[in-house]
Amino acid sequence: GDVQDFGSTSDAHHQDRWATDTGNTARLQVANANWIMHRDDLPEYMEKWGLLHAGFDYNCVAVFGSQSTGKSTLLNRLFGTTFDVMDETQRRQTTKGIWMSRGRGMDVLVMDVEGTDGRERGEDQDFERKSALFSMATSEVIILNLWEHQVGLYQGANMGLLKTVFEVNLQLFQSQRGKEKTLLFFVIRDHVGSTPLANLSNTLQADLEKIWAGLSKPEGLEDCKIQDYFDFMYTGLPHKVLMPEKFDTEVDQLRSRFMDPKDANYVFLPHYHKRIPADGFHVYASGIWEQIMSNKDLDLPTQQELLAQYRCDEIANAASEIFIDTVSVLKVPILDKGQLVQDLGPQMTEARSQALKSFDKEASRYHAGVYEKKRFDLLKKLNAQLSVYFVGQLRNLHKSAVIMFQDSIKSELKKPSYNFADVVDNATRNSEKHFKEGAQSIILPDTDWSYDSEFDQLQDDFAELSAQARSDEIKKMTKMLEKQVEGDLTEPTSIALNNPSSEMWHKILTVYKMAIANGQETLIKKAKSFNTSDEELDESVKNLVKQSWLLLRRKIDEELADSMVLLKLRSKFEDKFRYDDEGLPRVWKPEDDIDAHFKKAREETLALIPLFAKIDTTRDSDLEVESDEDFDFARSLTVLGESKQQDITTRFKRESDAFYLEAKRSIVATTAK
Ligand code: GDP
Ligand code: MG
Repeated sequence: GDVQDFGSTSDAHHQDRWATDTGNTARLQVANANWIMHRDDLPEYMEKWGLLHAGFDYNCVAVFGSQSTGKSTLLNRLFGTTFDVMDETQRRQTTKGIWMSRGRGMDVLVMDVEGTDGRERGEDQDFERKSALFSMATSEVIILNLWEHQVGLYQGANMGLLKTVFEVNLQLFQSQRGKEKTLLFFVIRDHVGSTPLANLSNTLQADLEKIWAGLSKPEGLEDCKIQDYFDFMYTGLPHKVLMPEKFDTEVDQLRSRFMDPKDANYVFLPHYHKRIPADGFHVYASGIWEQIMSNKDLDLPTQQELLAQYRCDEIANAASEIFIDTVSVLKVPILDKGQLVQDLGPQMTEARSQALKSFDKEASRYHAGVYEKKRFDLLKKLNAQLSVYFVGQLRNLHKSAVIMFQDSIKSELKKPSYNFADVVDNATRNSEKHFKEGAQSIILPDTDWSYDSEFDQLQDDFAELSAQARSDEIKKMTKMLEKQVEGDLTEPTSIALNNPSSEMWHKILTVYKMAIANGQETLIKKAKSFNTSDEELDESVKNLVKQSWLLLRRKIDEELADSMVLLKLRSKFEDKFRYDDEGLPRVWKPEDDIDAHFKKAREETLALIPLFAKIDTTRDSDLEVESDEDFDFARSLTVLGESKQQDITTRFKRESDAFYLEAKRSIVATTAK
């Protein structure tokens, strides 16, 4: 029976007279006679009624009174609702339960309570009490509906009902004393007018005070006044059947009290509001309902807190779902592709503040303490989500800073002249700046994020990379030095050894010393560029001396390999034996003393072997190459060992014998002619 059915009520024509609102006023049975609450339908109806997002900008009114006193009729007339009215012709009971609808043309939730007239039949006071609890916990204004003839009947059903209302109120609001009030709006029906309203209201007020005085009050509240919890309004309405037009006019006038905030008697004053945000109404209502059903003590502040927790969680979840959608576009570039997202900082800030803003918008209406805590939780959750991207971007920044560093060094070292230390300094400075600026721009406020350890790691990487580059450069330089030394040594050594003389070794060693001096000069020049320490420089010089020496020794070994020595010996011998002092080829004559010539030439030639055999340092006593475990300087001075010398001597002798025979034969030939 929750359909919108204006047409089925006899008052449909009447409603159209004043209705201006086209909003849906469909009614909902919030709870039925079996105490089943239609909790899940409430949000849908709140939406339908256009109130779900109203925040605090809605009001709530409920009606109490004996059975069949025209309550539903009044509500329908006042608020344009379509609550069931008892059919006069059949005297049929309306459907039991708590009904809710929206006031037409006003942001008002209207509650109609349909019970059995238990009090008159001495039953079902339980329903009355429960529905009173529920209504009081939600409504700002309670309309108390009674016939004029019921006024003054202190022992009557109404008084019992009022007693229940007061007791329930004390239970619910004892801690709110003086802070939150409820308006009790008495409507005296079938007010004939012979007794003025003022008299009726005085009588009622006196009865109320009497009932209040008779209540057993909670501890500490023994002296509390009825006015601490309630405000009162009284009005009368003419007989609907006997004076229908007057009834209509007065109801219309009454309506303005519920509709028009400028009306002097406007009922919905701010301090009556129960402060349930509209989007939490269903949760709150069902929470209250559960408490009532389990007959537990209903404590509104606790209910408010529970409501706040539930709703703030819901709102936070909704906010963070949208948030996750928003920021998930960052996943592919940052986490999968390892790219730097240029405006990541602003993007994260924006996404986070959007989420917080949407949370604040709804959640801030709830219990302040709960709201603050849930907001903090949400912030932590958002930060945790974002930190994944923060860390990812840091990693990518790290990578790009390393690449930047390497590229910079590589291109600078290609230039014709550079200072290595400066090149590294520049690259380090620029790459660190790139990293730091990038990292700084993605640190959000209200986080404990830091890039310190990543930065430390980066500096370690730079140190390692520059050490590597430095050692590569030094290797390159050493190679170049070796080439330079080789260039200095090769020709002069070869020339000296091809013109053997007693000066020969001194010449070679002089060249060697010059080459080293040359190399050393280059080293010292480069030392500054590589930030070389004195120790390192000493080490390099020592190395240069030794490597150059080994190079020289290799050169000498090449020049003085067996065949080469023999060649040198032969050429020397030939010079002496086959050419005369003018350098002309000798033609032997019979009178020539070939034997003496041969002997002399051979001896002079053989004398070269010991000369070649050992590097003579007598004139270069300052020369010293440091020995170590696999290098012995003194031994390196020996070029040809004893046996090698023997061997060469023998081979040379044989070769020279051939020259001798050839010379002899040439004379025989000449004389024979
Ligand atoms: P409820 O049970 O209190 O909701 O009462 P209803 O609105 O269902 O009305 C019960 C009966 O009283 C119906 O037959 C109405 O026509 C009649 N009724 C409604 N308003 C008035 C009124 O102002 N005066 C009189 N005498 N009867 C009324
Ligand atoms: Mg009714």
